[in-house]
Amino acid sequence: MPKAVGIDLGTTNSCVAAVIAGDPTVIHNAEGGRVTPSIVHFSKTGEVLVGEPAKRQAILSPDRTVRSVKRLMGQRTTAITVDGRDYTPEQISARILEKLARDAATYLGEPVKQAVITVPAYFDDAQRTATKHAGEIAGLEVLRIINEPTAAALAYGHKQQKMEGTILVYDLGGGTFDVTIMDVEIDKAKTEERDYYEVRSTAGDTHLGGDDIDQALIDFLADQFQKEHGVDLRQDRQALQRLKEAAEKAKIELSSALQTNINLPFLYVPEGGSPLHLEMTLTRAQLEELARPIVERTRPIVLRAMEDAKVGPGDISEVILVGGQTRMPMVQQLVRELTGKEPRRDINPDEVVAVGAAIQAAVLTQEMKDMVLLDVTPLSLGVETLGDVMDVLIPRNTTIPTRVSRIYTTASDYQPSVEIHVLQGERPRASQNRSLGRFQLTGIPPAPRGMPRIEVTFDIDANGILNVTAEDKGTGKKQDITITGSSSLSPDEVQRMVQEAEAHRQEDERFRRLAQARNEADALAYQLEKTINDLRDKLSESERQSLEAKVKELREASQGDDEQAIRRKIDEVNQAFSEVSRRLYEAASAGVGSQAAEGTTGQPGPGYAGGRGPGPAAGPGGDVIDAEFEAEDEK
Ligand code: AMP
Repeated sequence: MPKAVGIDLGTTNSCVAAVIAGDPTVIHNAEGGRVTPSIVHFSKTGEVLVGEPAKRQAILSPDRTVRSVKRLMGQRTTAITVDGRDYTPEQISARILEKLARDAATYLGEPVKQAVITVPAYFDDAQRTATKHAGEIAGLEVLRIINEPTAAALAYGHKQQKMEGTILVYDLGGGTFDVTIMDVEIDKAKTEERDYYEVRSTAGDTHLGGDDIDQALIDFLADQFQKEHGVDLRQDRQALQRLKEAAEKAKIELSSALQTNINLPFLYVPEGGSPLHLEMTLTRAQLEELARPIVERTRPIVLRAMEDAKVGPGDISEVILVGGQTRMPMVQQLVRELTGKEPRRDINPDEVVAVGAAIQAAVLTQEMKDMVLLDVTPLSLGVETLGDVMDVLIPRNTTIPTRVSRIYTTASDYQPSVEIHVLQGERPRASQNRSLGRFQLTGIPPAPRGMPRIEVTFDIDANGILNVTAEDKGTGKKQDITITGSSSLSPDEVQRMVQEAEAHRQEDERFRRLAQARNEADALAYQLEKTINDLRDKLSESERQSLEAKVKELREASQGDDEQAIRRKIDEVNQAFSEVSRRLYEAASAGVGSQAAEGTTGQPGPGYAGGRGPGPAAGPGGDVIDAEFEAEDEK
């Protein structure tokens, strides 16, 4: 069975892992990194860069670079426009997922077609559905969507021999905050028993994270600059981008240092004026003052999760920190204060989620022993009823999967249809909650108000994704339901995007192969030019001219867009050189004497063993013996 991977699709960084020979392993990306910046860059030439290469382009062309797309997931109306083309957040996320899957396939040496993808526990239905769609657009079968804190707990549990207790996971990433409290029972000695994880409560804020601290610092720096120079850097995209990078860097440095310097020379050049620089010393205390209101927003959320789980600080046995932003000492201090516990330090907050997702993937593909994993739905689900009231069918923190039905009726006489408006959130007023979609149930036989019996069923699957059905009990028939104003893409739209992505994957693959062929052609041309030069006195004039002409043709072909033509030229050139080389070699062996000639009869020409391209120049004596060894090696 092909490998299924675990993917942590983060706001700032993403990470992919797989279980290899029973061991959950973080996979290096093509650039050699263990995490990949969640950044997509659309270059002028039509190439799409993802990760570190995209990040490098962000300063030069911020308008072609998309970051923090996770913040937009599930927002149907938001289009991301690059170069006059609109993309949905799902399509941008799909680009990141594609790269992770591709790099994983290279690392593992086998295709990657299945994945478990993580989402913040507090993601609502639309955000989860959007993430699943992003996976599908990336050409992946999404085996499961799991919650990030739950994944972190799985990774932690995997390393334990024995534990029984309550874990609190505090997860503050670039853009989202989650807290999850769960019971865990593990005893590896009892091989017949499965590890047990049961989430008791979860809470969070899907728009709160390290990015907000960066923003506070950017504003602080820009305000200072404006006071000093009268220029608002926020109006200049390039300056703002540099400021952003510097702010994040300073923030990260201040997690270990007590003060840091921010130095941005030539940050702004006023028309006709001399360049302006930004130079400032920032202390940890200053940063903490700016960050405090943001970090403090996590406090009531943690308290609510503890209240929902009915636990006090004394009941928590372990605290796990997830997300890069938890490296900030002030954040750790708050967690200590709230839980009365020292958070664990032996867990890498950037990688633990992907590792947990990989474990879940291995369990789902039966590569690893099964476990009991009971998660919850983070937000209440219900329908709108008369008078802007949200009628809750499934309260928050209900264990999933789950299924609940309730009977509704009509509000006026002879009403032929009803509208079922599906909502998610905690507010009693319908209009203040998130609208997931509206369903029309039509064809209700004429009846006085209150007579028809319409059964609405909510079904939440293991991904935390909701399906709604409605049945008119009067006719006994399930009615067709149509959805309007949904916050998710329709199946048709997903299908179209899957096809588009498939086409661009082929296009990207062509582009990659072309780039590789060009690269090889250029390297070969360079090498051969050098060889022609080295062999200058051994080549006849006509040989030299013919070889030079071949190299020129190769260079020309490599400028073109036809990969096959380049490959043909590479073969032709190799062939031509091989022939000349053979002649030189034979001439040289004849000069050296019968011994060497005998010893090498029938071997390929020097430096061409196995057709790997030209090697050392053929010449008398030592060169021939070198070639002999090379030929031996090839056997
Ligand atoms: P994540 O979404 O988990 O990748 O978290 C990324 C966030 O963590 C970004 O806002 C980073 O700036 C922040 N971060 C990473 N390392 C550190 C650090 N050492 N101190 C403070 N924040 C950090």
